[in-house]
Amino acid sequence: MADQHETLAASLSDVRLYIDGRFTDAEGNATFDNISPYTNETMNSIAAGQPSDIDRAAKAAKAAFLGKWGKMKLQERLGYVYRIGDLIEQYTDELSELEALDTGLPISQTRKQVSRSANNFRFYADTVKSQMYGEAYQVDDEFINYTVHSPVGVAGLITPWNAPFMLETWKIAPALATGNTVVLKPAEWSPLTANRMAEIIDMAGLPDGVFNVVHGIGEVAGDALVKHPDVELISFTGETTTGSEIMRNGADALKRFSMELGGKSPMIVFDDADLDRALDAATWGIFSFNGERCTANSRLYLHEDIAGDFIMKLQRRVMNIKVGDPLDDATQVGPLIRTEHFERVKSYIELAKEEGCEVISGEVPKAFARGNYVPPTMLLGAENSMRVVQEEIFGPVIAVMTFKDEDEVIEQANDVRYGLAGYVWTNDIKRGHRVAQAVDSGMLWVNAQNVRDLRTPFGGSKHSGIGREGGFYAFEFYTEIKVIHVAVGDHHIPQFGR
Ligand code: NAD
Repeated sequence: MADQHETLAASLSDVRLYIDGRFTDAEGNATFDNISPYTNETMNSIAAGQPSDIDRAAKAAKAAFLGKWGKMKLQERLGYVYRIGDLIEQYTDELSELEALDTGLPISQTRKQVSRSANNFRFYADTVKSQMYGEAYQVDDEFINYTVHSPVGVAGLITPWNAPFMLETWKIAPALATGNTVVLKPAEWSPLTANRMAEIIDMAGLPDGVFNVVHGIGEVAGDALVKHPDVELISFTGETTTGSEIMRNGADALKRFSMELGGKSPMIVFDDADLDRALDAATWGIFSFNGERCTANSRLYLHEDIAGDFIMKLQRRVMNIKVGDPLDDATQVGPLIRTEHFERVKSYIELAKEEGCEVISGEVPKAFARGNYVPPTMLLGAENSMRVVQEEIFGPVIAVMTFKDEDEVIEQANDVRYGLAGYVWTNDIKRGHRVAQAVDSGMLWVNAQNVRDLRTPFGGSKHSGIGREGGFYAFEFYTEIKVIHVAVGDHHIPQFGR
């Protein structure tokens, strides 16, 4: 299907910034190339936003917040949010194809992500209407105190390339539904669907300046967003080291931050588990999204009594996974986003050998030699002290370890700096809860793959993040909670100097 990639790439227009309701070039017409993960050819050129472009976008967003959007009635505002969801659904096929073309993610998976993205808008429109209410505190017969949620102002959203469209909508939907205006800085390696998002929002007819997209390099455009005085909050998803740098850079302006960072999540399989389902979940959890998945079960801990058989079956799966063209519906694993990332993942596989692992990899068909393909890979004989077990590889690579008992495996599971997700497989109900509660992570699944109801909190502990988004937890971040104290009687007031 190389032809299909080339035809689609040839049909792409160059991408511009979207500021104050208009598509515009970056200052000085700066651009960068957008490269296909499948062919490694340049597909189109992307406007490289400069600090002055961020300034234009932030000012437009502030004016919209102080103007029409800020004064709009709730029902009308949420009408726009529903309309965005409907338009995403209408363009599902095109968005899924663009995402697969741009990122190398298999199209069967991008289709699900796009459908989830439409739901994010509907969910937040529903939830703001039904659940964003304050509390009332009666204080004897002297006071009634109550809380209200007010939007914060201009929200700066900075997103990664691994599931770009879905992660963007995850932030845009609550930010807009709660009444903020937005400047989005999408990842430079995956700009196509962020541009389509701007076109969709333009079609939905939101007032100018409510939503702005400034493409660009993280250290330039992203940095200017983090430091801009009119931007009240930064919701960031990306690498842990970038997250700490952003917090340092935003400290002078006292930005409010939400940080969704890296992961190295354990999956623990006890000997009494439903092993067939655990095998399905282990395989899907690490090899879906090409392994470029923050919540991937990249560390697999198997009870020693079932390890031999489980590893044999996992190996069979690894050999059978369909590595292919991301635009082919049958493909399960596609090329990694960029050669730099591909080299990094390959270097971890080399490191695994040096550290003493036995490396078992599937095959990449010769037809795909131009792309950034890393075959599904297992690292056997891994140990917790190894770098390949401690560091996030962010590719289709699973480190496999064995354990004897519960205490030992909990200690191993917790012996990393990350704490994003964890998975426990056992048919002992008490042990399932016990281990899930003992693993230091923001999110745990028992006898389940990563299925998440949109109402639940999302986020990590330790170096995997700060704060929670998702469900009504997003309200704490995207709104200012004000308390209003009203005297309803004549309470005591000291009478100084009387
Ligand atoms: P990254 O940190 O390299 O980049 C993320 C975004 O930050 C990009 O838009 C980039 O341009 C921008 N950026 C980079 N430097 C910046 C700076 N100095 N100031 C402002 N912005 C800057 O991350 P990535 O490589 O795009 O994504 C992969 C990482 O994201 C992995 O670590 C993965 O685990 C993590 N991730 C976490 C979650 C989660 O919810 N916890 C979800 C998805 C991905």
